[in-house]
Amino acid sequence: MNDAVAVPSNFISDIVADDIERGTWSGRVQTRFPPEPNGYLHIGHAKAIVVDFGTAEDFGGTCFLRFDDTNPETEEETFVDSIAGDIAWLGYQPAEVRHASDYFEQLYTWAEDLIARGLAYVDDQDGEAISAGRGGYGKPGVESPFRNREPAESLELFRRMRAGEFADGTRVLRARIDMSHENMQLRDPIMYRIRNIAHHRTGTEWAIYPTYDWAHGQSDAIEGVTHSICTLEFESHRPLYEWFLSHLELETAPPRQIEFARLEFTHTVTSKRRLAKLVADQRVDGWDDARMPTLSGLRRRGYPALAIRNFCREVGTTRTNSRHSIEALESYVRKVHNALAQRRMAVLRPLRLVLDNWPVDADGNPAVEHFEVANNPERPEDGTRLVAFSGTLWIEQEDFAEVPPPKYFRLSPGREVRLRGAYLITAVGVDKDADGNVVTVHATYDPESKGGTAADGRKVKSTMHWVSDAHAVDANVALYQRLFSAEAPGERTGEALDDLNPTSREILTGCKLEAALAQAAPGEVVQFERLGYFAVDPDEPALFHRTVGLRDEWAAIQKRKG
Ligand code: ATP
Ligand code: MG
Repeated sequence: MNDAVAVPSNFISDIVADDIERGTWSGRVQTRFPPEPNGYLHIGHAKAIVVDFGTAEDFGGTCFLRFDDTNPETEEETFVDSIAGDIAWLGYQPAEVRHASDYFEQLYTWAEDLIARGLAYVDDQDGEAISAGRGGYGKPGVESPFRNREPAESLELFRRMRAGEFADGTRVLRARIDMSHENMQLRDPIMYRIRNIAHHRTGTEWAIYPTYDWAHGQSDAIEGVTHSICTLEFESHRPLYEWFLSHLELETAPPRQIEFARLEFTHTVTSKRRLAKLVADQRVDGWDDARMPTLSGLRRRGYPALAIRNFCREVGTTRTNSRHSIEALESYVRKVHNALAQRRMAVLRPLRLVLDNWPVDADGNPAVEHFEVANNPERPEDGTRLVAFSGTLWIEQEDFAEVPPPKYFRLSPGREVRLRGAYLITAVGVDKDADGNVVTVHATYDPESKGGTAADGRKVKSTMHWVSDAHAVDANVALYQRLFSAEAPGERTGEALDDLNPTSREILTGCKLEAALAQAAPGEVVQFERLGYFAVDPDEPALFHRTVGLRDEWAAIQKRKG
């Protein structure tokens, strides 16, 4: 390994570095990311992607994308496409794209070989009997009455299983290992089950499908994977992974399975099954709803791939399960946008403001002025833009109070405030509708305060954003709260969906945006001054999603912890 390359140290890179030094696989490093195409990728998968692709990258190796497509009931081509797209969006390029189904024939041949050697047998028991016969912890299993049938008989039945002669669930192929092994995974695990169902790639060619355990390690070996990195729930499967590989004739050293802790967050779930249920029950608009923790949902919401990658790398890779604060991830998102997002003005809940002393031009129309405003004070190279200002404006409803409560320093009758970058104004009166609601605030502006600074140096306590009515563009803005109100969804009742927040989204219509926002590109994220970061919907140009607010709640949480 080149010492100049900075490899973030964690137990996985230590293992890989050690293998390189010992010359296992002649120093080669090859990993794979193996999603099952039965749903969209979520933020937990991002962690696996960063570990799988990142580890290969750090050591000059390669990483394959392998679709683990061994359950035809739940798998679909649309999921294959979304997964490939999400990986590319995250910034990774697989050296090759493979499918476990590419190996069905080889797996079958190997299975026949194990049967011939007495290492696998066809079991005619049904699922219930098999599972009862497995025993439990501290309770040995019971051997199947078919366990000692002749290899020739198993072979013949296995061929007929393949030929589609039997109904689903009537027979399985099992490895013949040890029915009283202390690790349940080794009590004659199932290798094949009968499924008379079409597969999204192999069609009706197969009536039997390999299990995860039989397909996974063998697929790793076929591809030449050196380090097969997965999450901790597969730890107990490792002896089985090794058992299968040790009974095959391989030309090179078998791959090595390494497990790490899943990435989980507060206020959300990272389980495809639960996310699929949210979609099926129409609790969200779809897999890519901006509230979903899917990569496509987070992308719609305005999460940059860079922030997700940085978080996954910097949070560390360990073997201890824990739930991370969602605020920590948001803090990474905010950091990227603070550096890069353009600043704009937008009024979400508009209240009309009329400047009574605003001049009219020679034709009797209200005068228009333009103020030069920095696009991003953090990046002077992003330049400035001109923002139009006139005598009828929009301000936020919450920036005006007819009767100001204590410590309220924004606009109220008789009070002077700054309209950001424009003028100082003083409220002089209001118009109300029949119900007594304020519909228009009247104010006067100080012509000597152009740019927002008074000629005599007097100070005001508050600066407010605004949008000129004649130049505004209308848009809808989606505001979000947590999708799940509980920190650990499901902890209370065992069912995460019981903690779903019924008011996780509020859509504001008729928001007033400064003219430059008409040019915002689909997917672009901008900062609405004082309000947060907002992403233009990729499909609906006049819809903005609030990505995150401006306040760093993570920093506040850290401070409170002392
Ligand atoms: P789910 O439980 O959501 O269905 P899964 O593990 O069944 O997830 P796969 O498509 O099999 O989903 O996962 C592909 C890879 O991503 C596996 O290696 C798996 O270990 C990893 N992975 C899945 N969820 C997480 C997570 N929350 N954190 C880290 N890695 C994950
Ligand atoms: Mg899985």
